[in-house]
Amino acid sequence: QKALVWLRRDLRLYDNAALHHALKNNAQVWVTFIFDVRILKPLQANDVVNGGLAHDRRIDFIWQGLQQIDEALRKQGGGLIVQFGESTECIPKIAQALGVNTVYSNHDYEPSAIARDQQIQTSLEALGISLETYKDQVIFEKKEILTNSSTVFSVFTPYKNNWLRTLREKDIAAYECTPKTGQFAEIPKVLITPFPSLESMGFCPTGIETYLPPGSEGGEQFLEDFLHRIDQYQIGRDFPAIKGVSYLSTHLRFGMLSIRGLVREAHRRMLAGSMGATIWLSELIWRDFYFMILANHPRLADGVAFKPDYDNIEWESSAHAKTLFQAWCNGKTGYPLIDAAMCQLNQSGYMHNRLRMVVASFLTKDLGIDWRWGEAYFAKHLNDFELSSNNGGWQWASSSGCDAQPYFRIFNPITQSQKFDAEGKFIRRYLPQLDKLSKKSIHAPWEAGHLELEAAGILLGRDYPLPIVSHDEARKKTLMRYSVVKKVT
Ligand code: FAD
Repeated sequence: QKALVWLRRDLRLYDNAALHHALKNNAQVWVTFIFDVRILKPLQANDVVNGGLAHDRRIDFIWQGLQQIDEALRKQGGGLIVQFGESTECIPKIAQALGVNTVYSNHDYEPSAIARDQQIQTSLEALGISLETYKDQVIFEKKEILTNSSTVFSVFTPYKNNWLRTLREKDIAAYECTPKTGQFAEIPKVLITPFPSLESMGFCPTGIETYLPPGSEGGEQFLEDFLHRIDQYQIGRDFPAIKGVSYLSTHLRFGMLSIRGLVREAHRRMLAGSMGATIWLSELIWRDFYFMILANHPRLADGVAFKPDYDNIEWESSAHAKTLFQAWCNGKTGYPLIDAAMCQLNQSGYMHNRLRMVVASFLTKDLGIDWRWGEAYFAKHLNDFELSSNNGGWQWASSSGCDAQPYFRIFNPITQSQKFDAEGKFIRRYLPQLDKLSKKSIHAPWEAGHLELEAAGILLGRDYPLPIVSHDEARKKTLMRYSVVKKVT
């Protein structure tokens, strides 16, 4: 028997469900990855730099991760078949050219991916080839964790409790992926094409590897570093200036690390009494939760509110609102924590979780702008962009999502700053022009006295913006805006 393993968002050669089953059931196995034009095309329009090439850190990150996989496969006599085209066409063609009996892949939960996979399954079946898919990127999927009355959960804490009660060793056991000698077969001549360069696909190198080492190798390196800190996770995780979180989301997003391996580590340490590991495991369960929510409510991918009444809210959409949105995107709101956070995103593709919550609240509750605008901006810029978690995070921030809160919260961007960046260390890192302000004034420079501003060499409106909105007035407006849903929630 011969098989083709189609990698998508599971870019690793260890503990991979599809690869495990392919190796177990077949004498010869090939591995492929398609840079899908349908996914890349819209990204090519993003941030086009000189020479007409687009700057997208994720494509670069994937590309570098694939080089590692190719190298590892070559050492074992095979190689990675990489093509740039439409996967709906490429996969059946490659499978046919190789003469395989089965294509193996792992489940994807996004509606567009599900539709694509169905189309490919039909094409493969017409060629007499079957498509086998497996659960791999979550611990429990779609309907595996249900309420006592067999319905889907919509609130996190009871879901998490049930998730933890259900967990057995077999759910987090690693899939053996060791090939027999010669099992990774040589790529036939007709399929040998050069590994497409980033430039040939319309993208430029981004330098992401200088701060986020790609592939399973990079993931392992970050994981090892985090495991030295995991026991203090609960203490440091809310403070963006310190290295308190794992920074593993991008490796997880592309499956360069196995979720089973991470949960195994966290769970073992939780049982040994580590509070940090217990809280970190909760975060990994949030990830499963949002995958489950999207899988059961695919309409969320169409931009509708989880709680439908929230679609009655009238968001600001005037030309002025568009200017405010641009100020938010560019980190020029005049609120230092918001601006530093947006600079972190724009410069690196990462934003700390506390800051994602604060900037999302600011956009929706201080500027009165539709959460979907922010969701789209994050989708374009986050290295770890994940439809399920991003949508979940934005709907949580705009109060329209899965949330046990009875009504809605409005974060105060100044008190959040005082609490989570008390010394202004994070702000100073991204807004060096404010460096000379005291730790008292750095959270709201317009409240600093003239003398302090002058001594710091800052003229507000020239060196740093004046606040584009008054939080107190915005709060009142938001209470009005949300009154359309107040009675029904
Ligand atoms: P850690 O704190 O080390 O957490 C470990 C892992 O747990 C993360 O890598 C992630 O996989 C998972 N996780 C943590 N928090 C959450 C959460 N709230 N929801 C779901 N999973 C979580 N996360 C994404 O992976 N992709 C997104 O597109 C995304 N968009 C977000 C948008 C908003 C508005 C908000 C509020 C949150 C969003 N998150 C998203 C969740 C969270 O901010 C990131 O997962 C986290 O900041 C990644 O950093 P880390 O790996 O250091 O996290």
